[in-house]
Amino acid sequence: RGVVSPEAGADDRALDGALRPRMLEDFVGQDRVREQLSLVLRGAQSRGRAPDHVLMSGGPGLGKTTLAMIIANELGAPLRITSGPAIERSGDLAAVLSTLQEGEVLFLDEIHRMARPAEEMLYVAMEDFRVDVVVGKGPGATAIPLDIAPFTLVGATTRAGLLPAPLRDRFGFTAHVDFYRPEDLETIVRRSAGLLGADLAPDAAREIARRSRGTPRIANRLLRRVRDYAEVRGDGTLDRATARAALSLYEVDELGLDRLDRAVLDALLRRFRGGPVGLSTLAVSVGEEPETVEVVAEPFLVRAGFVARTPRGRVATPEAWEHMGMTPPDGAAG
Ligand code: ADP
Repeated sequence: RGVVSPEAGADDRALDGALRPRMLEDFVGQDRVREQLSLVLRGAQSRGRAPDHVLMSGGPGLGKTTLAMIIANELGAPLRITSGPAIERSGDLAAVLSTLQEGEVLFLDEIHRMARPAEEMLYVAMEDFRVDVVVGKGPGATAIPLDIAPFTLVGATTRAGLLPAPLRDRFGFTAHVDFYRPEDLETIVRRSAGLLGADLAPDAAREIARRSRGTPRIANRLLRRVRDYAEVRGDGTLDRATARAALSLYEVDELGLDRLDRAVLDALLRRFRGGPVGLSTLAVSVGEEPETVEVVAEPFLVRAGFVARTPRGRVATPEAWEHMGMTPPDGAAG
């Protein structure tokens, strides 16, 4: 999906290496997380031991992978990256765990999507640095304990609430990565522009930051679209007018709403007079799958204060009417 999706596309990945901050002091915003992590790392270093396992929770594109890389860099330790969906059987996890080096940082993205049987194995590995390798099948199967190198697990999840309690409890520290403040996004955009060698005017940085849905990945992507526009249609200057023109071409509005968001709002206001209306009815009226509306459009519309979830369905707020330039009919909900 479009230019304001928080998920990474191939285009994002190609530039991630260049744009990712490498050390904690270059990581913008999230002051509390930065301070907490810094203490955990310094404490472990002064004791000469691998730090506690760290769980990071927060939406896509907010910097969880970046933080995992920073943890390894700060420790001067190697980093191994894998993800929940890649671990389909406990054998997949055993293969990773048994080849870790001493002190290695293991980043397990989307940890909530790991196969259940692997979870038990991870508990033991996290606690005792041991893997029980099962040899044979059926009644003759035996578990052979295998010591593994002490390591630090960095788990990431978009939904900490989905993790089974025994897994959550084995992390020494949970970092909640939140949406970024506009001024932090502005700093990120300016930093990225510098790294890309683009000459970005301050008011253009503000314009991009404002439309980035609190998400660094989106901010970096919008910056690239503005840069393309400036190079192809303009004279290469990244000023506010160019930023506005480019973002309107991609149908990203003043507050970062895109075409789908606006279609959903428009249907909610016009066809359902502001609601309440059920999510699937709303989805059908914009020609989308309910899941797309629920996962892609709704979270941002709710966070932006345009849509409220009620037991009777979705309801538009007064801010939604105002943003779409419409007047609520008499007696409309919200
Ligand atoms: P996640 O793992 O949470 O999906 P990433 O760590 O991949 O997110 O971050 C997405 C992109 O946003 C990265 O390429 C990185 O360049 C940028 N980014 C994320 N957080 C920050 C930050 N605090 N400061 C600067 N850039 C950031």
